[in-house]
Amino acid sequence: MKSNTFDIEMIRKFYESYPQKVDEAKKILKRPLTLSEKILYAHLSTDEPLRNYVRATDYVNFSPDRVAMQDATAQMALLQLMNSGRTKVAVPSTVHCDHLIQAHKSAKEDLNTAEVTNKEVYDFLSTVSNKFGIGFWKPGAGIIHQVVLENYAFPGGMMIGTDSHTPNAGGLGMIAIGVGGADAVDVMAGMPWELKMPKLIGVKLTGKLSGWASPKDVILKLAGILTVKGGTNAIIEYFGDGTSSLSATGKATICNMGAEVGATTSIFPYDKKSSDYLKATERTDVSELADKVIEYLQPDTETVNNPKEYFDQVIEIDLSTLEPYVNGPFTPDAAHPISEFAKVVREKGYPQKMEVGLIGSCTNSSYEDLSRAVSIVKDAKQKHVEVKAQFIINPGSEQVRYTAERDGILPAFEEVGATIMANACGPCIGQWKRESKDPERANSIVTSFNRNFAKRNDGNPNTHAFVTSPEIVAALSIAGDLCFNPMTDTLVNSEGEKVKLEEPKGYELPPLGYELKESGFLAPIADGSDIEISIAKDSQRLQELAPFAAWDGKDIIEQPLLIKVKGKCTTDHISMAGPWLRFRGHLDNISDNMLIGAVNAFNDMTNAVLDQETNEYIPVPKLARKFKAEGLGSVVVAEENYGEGSSREHAAMEPRFLNVKAILVKSFARIHETNLKKQGMLALTFVDKNDYEKIKEDDKISIIGLSEFKPGKNLTVELIHKNGTKESFEVAHTYNEVQIAWFKAGSALNYMKQK
Ligand code: SF4
Repeated sequence: MKSNTFDIEMIRKFYESYPQKVDEAKKILKRPLTLSEKILYAHLSTDEPLRNYVRATDYVNFSPDRVAMQDATAQMALLQLMNSGRTKVAVPSTVHCDHLIQAHKSAKEDLNTAEVTNKEVYDFLSTVSNKFGIGFWKPGAGIIHQVVLENYAFPGGMMIGTDSHTPNAGGLGMIAIGVGGADAVDVMAGMPWELKMPKLIGVKLTGKLSGWASPKDVILKLAGILTVKGGTNAIIEYFGDGTSSLSATGKATICNMGAEVGATTSIFPYDKKSSDYLKATERTDVSELADKVIEYLQPDTETVNNPKEYFDQVIEIDLSTLEPYVNGPFTPDAAHPISEFAKVVREKGYPQKMEVGLIGSCTNSSYEDLSRAVSIVKDAKQKHVEVKAQFIINPGSEQVRYTAERDGILPAFEEVGATIMANACGPCIGQWKRESKDPERANSIVTSFNRNFAKRNDGNPNTHAFVTSPEIVAALSIAGDLCFNPMTDTLVNSEGEKVKLEEPKGYELPPLGYELKESGFLAPIADGSDIEISIAKDSQRLQELAPFAAWDGKDIIEQPLLIKVKGKCTTDHISMAGPWLRFRGHLDNISDNMLIGAVNAFNDMTNAVLDQETNEYIPVPKLARKFKAEGLGSVVVAEENYGEGSSREHAAMEPRFLNVKAILVKSFARIHETNLKKQGMLALTFVDKNDYEKIKEDDKISIIGLSEFKPGKNLTVELIHKNGTKESFEVAHTYNEVQIAWFKAGSALNYMKQK
């Protein structure tokens, strides 16, 4: 029978070999395995020996099954892929146009505007996708993670996505990890993908949700326990009886927001609810394949009976006693049970008036979310209670939107004055043209999103954003009051009567099934060799990448210092986000933000470095461009953990583009160090950290020993000070043979092309 499931042959093949791979891993590790371990060990890259990898220590190469990219991060990833020498992606990959649509008036109008404003980006993404065999989801088709859950996620699989909330697919039992564009390029180009073997945090769920509590409250509570850093380098694996009572989309909500505690990813075991969701989204074939290997899609019993032995940390949450949470403002781990929230609002003086309620984002935009939230709205209407706050809904996908429209859910929201915006990220990513007469005034909004950092939604630092479940967003929007607790409080209706809102009710899956007319999916053609990639010559947002030049075979001699950075230097200091993101597909333009956030050790200023010719302090990118125009390179010096923060390929590409020859630091953040190596840069560390002090503002720097560049062999740095005196010292590196070949070829992509 012909299947409509995307990439079913890949999935079939995966399930054929999966049990055997798990059995082999168990034999080598000589112990029962958690679900995360089963999936991780089954996805070891073929170049990795099967052995017991030490969690939080060993770097391991994996072979993910697929890649997903959103339209903002896909741009630089695909520009690099174009230089890989490949004609097709090595694994199934998709692009989703969801981040660039601004929410302003209504779905239709906003979509039309986005198609004009972002035309060149959409044309580029669609033509590259068509050429390289990548599935393309048009603007309006939905938010990346909802679309992935509906179409691509499969239990036991492993995927990476160029977006932090990729772990959403963990709701269907997949290891799904958010990465930078450079990682996506590796996997699409057929290279292994490296990850530090994560620690495991086990979360045991018992009992069953009831009343106003929802899956969102599990992760809101957990965020309070773990805080925004507590999940770093860890997979959060949920287990226990409570897991089987949660819908697949509810589980996805929980996994999605694991990103807020810094988790590598989150995962639930495969169960009847996963199978029901696969069937409802027309993937019965996948559910049948998964059913056959179900014990491999769940943790081994010993690990859940004795979790402390198998997990690095264990947390227990009783769903039966869980109450709704409202987290914020300004951070998702400020967790408040709703029974205590009013007191917090009053004590801290948060603006009590609730001005806007927003339901949507990849976190909470499923059919279940909308159907439960609308039950509250309908109840209020029936009891003659008006909705006091502005109310905005973003459905997660066209499938959810079409079905919710058909089933009267969206019309019921509209009847109480809600605006239905496009199936896109919109206000969740700050793409929200919020009309406000007085933006200076402190104000409160409540959303069902995942992030609530200052300025995230409307760019306004005075907005206090709180995250909660769609059900509580609906209740607080009706009340227009942050201090309202629907579990205990009453509202006054238009007849002056006191009324209480009914507990939410809804459907996990649409009773009449999902439906849609136009999914918004464009399949790539079989042979894309004749496709011309669309990049306008005068574009300010996109620029074709010229391959970086190969190493010239010589040492680096007497190059000037560009900047000696003092203190912390994250990828944000190296390549700032904010307004610069519009240039993320244009390396030349975005390079004007290079290191503008880093502090110059000689004057304690940012973006002010000495131009020795004029003796003036000028912006870092300006000096780098001046050197480049004169045919000179330069050297960047910095302190500890250089390049920490989110993996951002621009932070490695910009110095390379502006002819920086080497980054010499006290220590690197590992991912950034690898990213520099991939771009053909020299990433070096001081052997004696005190040598950092020897570097003067007007030094010329040589790096000697490159003709003997070998793993484990130090290089020599020679400083020529302004007064003519010289000093030299050893510097170390961590390049292996292949990485040295990248350096010599000019970049990892150049090397791959040569092979
Ligand atoms: S909805 Fe929000 S969190 Fe989800 S992918 Fe879009 S911007 Fe990211």
